[in-house]
Amino acid sequence: MALIVQKFGGTSVGSIERIEQVAEKVKKFRENGDDIVVVVSAMSGETNRLIGLAKQISEQPVPRELDVMVSTGEQVTIALLAMALIKRGVPAVSYTGNQVRILTDSSFTKARILQIDDQKLRTDLKAGRVVVVAGFQGVDEHGNITTLGRGGSDTTGVALAAALKADECQIYTDVDGVYTTDPRVVPKARRLDKITFEEMLEMASLGSKVLQIRSVEFAGKYNVPLRVLHSFQEGPGTLITIDEEESMEQPIISGIAFNRDEAKLTIRGVPDNPGVAFKILGPISGANIEVDMIVQNIAHDNTTDFTFTVHRNDHLNAMRVLENTAREISAREVIGDTDIAKVSIVGVGMRSHAGVASRMFEALAKEGINIQMISTSEIKVSVVIEEKYLELAVRALHTAFELDAPARQGE
Ligand code: ADP
Ligand code: ASP
Ligand code: MG
Repeated sequence: MALIVQKFGGTSVGSIERIEQVAEKVKKFRENGDDIVVVVSAMSGETNRLIGLAKQISEQPVPRELDVMVSTGEQVTIALLAMALIKRGVPAVSYTGNQVRILTDSSFTKARILQIDDQKLRTDLKAGRVVVVAGFQGVDEHGNITTLGRGGSDTTGVALAAALKADECQIYTDVDGVYTTDPRVVPKARRLDKITFEEMLEMASLGSKVLQIRSVEFAGKYNVPLRVLHSFQEGPGTLITIDEEESMEQPIISGIAFNRDEAKLTIRGVPDNPGVAFKILGPISGANIEVDMIVQNIAHDNTTDFTFTVHRNDHLNAMRVLENTAREISAREVIGDTDIAKVSIVGVGMRSHAGVASRMFEALAKEGINIQMISTSEIKVSVVIEEKYLELAVRALHTAFELDAPARQGE
């Protein structure tokens, strides 16, 4: 008998019919004799709808109150699923994050899980009940409701699996696994049987929203066997593993990630003295803005240009801070650009292969796509390009690195 944590995402519980289908599925696992903890998201679109309501009151809603509100989406689905299970003769009970006591810090809208009380869950499981837990939410030490950031139900699932030492955490969603890239953008994307934690972490942090980054971090840290599966189609899904198999067929690149969430800022004609980077980025981090990619040009005429990217939501704020800095250090001008996208190739195979980056640049050059910024690490290469070329770039790279699925007959 196994203990399995099953997380169902928004589209999988997006209607009463789907919730009934999920209940059928959970019932089958139960009949196999497995102990089941289910984590659910809000119905698809519900979290966005709630945020939209708050934005009608204020452009920047108070984070504490936002969390009180958006956490309600998941409270609805846990109760509906528990009802659907009970209707089928499966004993079940639902809990909010607070009721379980999923203790988090107090960073509203992006809280981190500190501790999970597993007592209640274990008692219920022992009594033969399926436990249905609200994803995405917790409670801080003062009793305030918190949420874990968008996509946070994945993290609830993995954290519960870690706390309960579950045999597996299964993430059920609307695709049948992790693909070489978003299958909605590249129809030729291929499902991966396996991907390493390290690669999945890069893919998630570079924009593949199939798993929330923190859920992958948690799974790696606590060694939780994690699998991504389709909610309503049979199949093996994708296993996230520790092993880096040494096989001849190990591809150099496992996947391509992309995002449109960044904006670029350039400060030009900066007097080139020691400490320039600190003078420019110090006030940015002082304003609590995270910087991603950075490029500083070699100086000529004793001045330099300095370019960096931030989250698009922080763009206006960062522009304001940078314009101030420009005045203080007598820089020539500040330029902002939100028409950018970041495309990244990811793969542990890169460690043992030279020339991966140049193959990437060649593929982009062939399509006439200009690269504005580059950053590399041991297992990834990222470039910033003009946003309108994003899909073209992802497709070209997918083909160049031989990731395309073989054409089916008749295609
Ligand atoms: P859920 O609501 O179940 O949490 P999400 O929308 O958060 O589902 O995540 C699933 C989606 O992630 C898919 O529909 C797909 O479009 C997207 N996605 C992005 N990158 C990938 C990838 N590499 N593999 C699979 N899906 C991906
Ligand atoms: N409902 C939350 C969101 O839409 C959490 C989740 O779905 O994982 O972000
Ligand atoms: Mg999700």
